[in-house]
Amino acid sequence: MAEAKTFKGGIHPPYNKELASGKAIKRAPVPAEVIIPLQQHIGAPNEALVSAGDRVEVGQKIGSSDAFVSAPVHSSVAGVVKEVVDVPNFTGNKVKSVVITTDAEQPEFAKKPGKDIDSLSADEIREIAKEAGLVGMGGAAFPTHVKLTPPKDKPVDLVIINACECEPFLTCDHRQMLEKGDDLIAGARLLKTAVGAGKVIIGIEANKMDAVDAIRSKASGLSDVEVEVLEVKYPEGAEKMLIFALTGRKVPPGKLPSEVGCLVQNVGTAIALYEAAAWGKPLYERVLTVTGPGIREPGNLLAAIGTPISDLIEACGGFVGNPVKLIMGGPMTGWAQSGTTANVVKGTSGVVVLTSDVVEMGEETDCVRCSKCIEACPMFLSPNFIVQAAKRGQWDKAEMWGALDCFECGCCSFECPAFIPHVEYVRKAKAEIAALKKKKE
Ligand code: SF4
Ligand code: SF4
Repeated sequence: MAEAKTFKGGIHPPYNKELASGKAIKRAPVPAEVIIPLQQHIGAPNEALVSAGDRVEVGQKIGSSDAFVSAPVHSSVAGVVKEVVDVPNFTGNKVKSVVITTDAEQPEFAKKPGKDIDSLSADEIREIAKEAGLVGMGGAAFPTHVKLTPPKDKPVDLVIINACECEPFLTCDHRQMLEKGDDLIAGARLLKTAVGAGKVIIGIEANKMDAVDAIRSKASGLSDVEVEVLEVKYPEGAEKMLIFALTGRKVPPGKLPSEVGCLVQNVGTAIALYEAAAWGKPLYERVLTVTGPGIREPGNLLAAIGTPISDLIEACGGFVGNPVKLIMGGPMTGWAQSGTTANVVKGTSGVVVLTSDVVEMGEETDCVRCSKCIEACPMFLSPNFIVQAAKRGQWDKAEMWGALDCFECGCCSFECPAFIPHVEYVRKAKAEIAALKKKKE
């Protein structure tokens, strides 16, 4: 077998995928109430299209914006709007949200007769992605139709499906590849048509060889779809690392994948595009993983957007052991929660609950100059120097050491024997550098 492809740097955290990787996707119970934020994406917020007392149906558009960089939101349930009100989302920021009391009986989404997906034009695919409210479902939540509109002078020749799922614990992409492989391939080819590329590569980490075999067998008759195996390493699925590992192309600092002729999309997004094109289905539910040693019965759930995570935890048997940390998303890049009130959004790939026996909580001490953070950084930065500059409030130096090129993967903190939370310092530095630039303008 050819050697698995990879990039330089990175780390090998304990993956713990076995907790949920064997669990087939099952539908989460529809909660009594969903809270659907009107902004779940990077870009302009939506205006509410409904108000208190309105009836809504599954898949009905309930928020939209005229801005190009935005994505509409749709009701995930049949029910009645209780209120439109500011609610803290998973980051703690208050976001205008539509609260819907759900009907006791929930109908299945009625598939609409879509067009022949093989005859769709690039413009039609972009429009479908926009109307369906598609965003990157790996966590970043960038509107898909915008990504499908690369600059005219930057032709895209390659679509990469990011099927690495390199975050520890998460298995929802793995399950979708096993259970929805045909839809993934169809969605990937729609992405290819939308940007006028010639080829699709589906990049899968070597800890999911059953998915490699399944997708290879489904794509066997297709000359435009390849499956490549990548080394199991974090953050193999970061866009720049993945592009380099698969093609050797280097995305310059501050630039997008289109700079080197690539479009990268996540497994869930490709499947959602297929469902939107073939069935007229908007993005109002998603597959996510509820897992960790603090969850009694870890699993992969298809959950309505707006479902409180407390309901998902209950659907997985509740807590077990001594849970001390609850994270929305994966443990490396997710958001630590102070409770269970946050709701599922389009970018929620998982809920991970860690127990006291696996969480290493050390006090931050001074840097011991071991250079482990430098060796781990996939962007070849010197995280220790960024931290040093940030601690001193030397924002120009933090920028000089590459704070703006950091994509907050957390490899540095993972390796640091001094328990230094580099990403927190980097975020602070980024905010200060941006504020200073704004002031100068
Ligand atoms: S400095 Fe940024 S990019 Fe480099 S390892 Fe740390 S978090 Fe990742
Ligand atoms: S890993 Fe931590 S202790 Fe080692 S050089 Fe980096 S910041 Fe310093």
